[in-house]
Amino acid sequence: MIVSTRTVYLETMGCQMNMLDSELVLGRLRQLGYRPVDDMAGADVVLINTCSVRDHAEQKAYSRLGALKKPKAARPEMVIGVIGCMAERDPDGIFEKTPHVDLVCGPGELSRIPAMIEEVLETRQKLVALSENKSRRNSLLARAVDHDSVEALDLSREAGLPEQVTQAYVRIQRGCDKFCTFCIVPYTRGAERCRPPQVIVDEARLLAEHGCKEVTLLGQTVNSYAFPENGRRVGLADLLERVNAIEGLERIRFVTSYPGDFTDDILQAMRDLPKVCEYLHIPVQSGSDAVLKRMNRRYTVGRYEELLARARETVPGIALASDFIVGFCGETESEFQASFELVERARFKNLFCFKYSPRPTTVADRRLPDDVPDTVKRARNLAILQLQERISLADNQSFIGRDVDVLVEGFSKAAVKAQEAEQFRGSEVGWRRADQLVGRTRGDRIVVFSGSQADIGQVRCVRIQSATALTLFGELTPAAVANTVTPRTADVRRTTGP
Ligand code: SF4
Repeated sequence: MIVSTRTVYLETMGCQMNMLDSELVLGRLRQLGYRPVDDMAGADVVLINTCSVRDHAEQKAYSRLGALKKPKAARPEMVIGVIGCMAERDPDGIFEKTPHVDLVCGPGELSRIPAMIEEVLETRQKLVALSENKSRRNSLLARAVDHDSVEALDLSREAGLPEQVTQAYVRIQRGCDKFCTFCIVPYTRGAERCRPPQVIVDEARLLAEHGCKEVTLLGQTVNSYAFPENGRRVGLADLLERVNAIEGLERIRFVTSYPGDFTDDILQAMRDLPKVCEYLHIPVQSGSDAVLKRMNRRYTVGRYEELLARARETVPGIALASDFIVGFCGETESEFQASFELVERARFKNLFCFKYSPRPTTVADRRLPDDVPDTVKRARNLAILQLQERISLADNQSFIGRDVDVLVEGFSKAAVKAQEAEQFRGSEVGWRRADQLVGRTRGDRIVVFSGSQADIGQVRCVRIQSATALTLFGELTPAAVANTVTPRTADVRRTTGP
């Protein structure tokens, strides 16, 4: 094994998949002696992990790459790599627009990164590594390298684990077969492949042995997880049961679910397995059946609402979250109104709402006109977000006076800023806010409260005193201050007072 003394800067854009990929790449590089740094322009190796889901995300990646032009001219030995979905989608475009980039590597080939860096340094050739289906049409502007199994990267986790890990992602599947007409993921991440259950359980156990309290099982459509084992099919509910048995873990989450394949055994697992959190992120995308059909989403609004009702009935206290796209091809005012009304009825804990932006190669881009004006998209986006803000505020206010279990993630961003301000300017605000911690309830609600370093990585009981649409604010309960272990219950089951 070649040990490096180089520095590496890795910046991540996009979803949890990218965050996990970055963590694994950085873990592998750290294992090889690379030192992660925060200074992009001064690093020996710069990797930008990109997202292609929206045009805006790609423009942001190009802007970051543009900022590297001068540092690269000053230090030609610097290695610049573009990884992730944009790399997979348009390698030649990247080399054309940003010729100072040295390597481009798709999300399925990330285990190649250390070898690619070495090869760039040795040969000064531009390199590209794409997944199997794409590598057949090798890049014109760079030499294609052999592809390798990404499983090897997932399994390299042990060497790359940071010293303190409270929460971690565990991939259970890659790619997607659904081909929603707006989505680029099946083209950049390939067909759906599931990891063997034993590999997933071993990885989760390894994380627990390193002190991890919460794992999130990751996939594009986690509920369609299926793996053949001894003549039977292991599904997500079976997997949750196996991960639930791991000693040391306290919480299990899974994202993202697809409404079409969501079976009741998963809801029952959420109800019966104590470590599985009462939180379900289940994107609907539109409240109009006609729009869902144009999107090739294989369910109706009625079926979706039935699923929400079953989830609430089976899993008391469950928090539901969703995603919406507004301004999709041909979306009329009444079709948008149907989305608006669905948000009103569904009472989500939170939602993510995006303006439709066509992605190259998708069916929608090739066959459906992007005919909703941007001003209309903006207005619809704002209307949904404002409505959800009111719903989230009312939901969060219902927690005032209640005790909730919080897995403490660290100092809140405001506290970190205040600590820096205190350090540099002796600010009074910093003094008052420097002990603010942030964590999440089982239902994925963000909680800010005063505590100490010793609380980080622990589950603490917090009494909620005030709320905004995004955040609950509280204080440690006397039992939590005394460090008494608290029961693990859904957010809404525990109340204080009469
Ligand atoms: S289910 Fe649809 S939106 Fe989700 S990743 Fe697959 S194609 Fe994309």
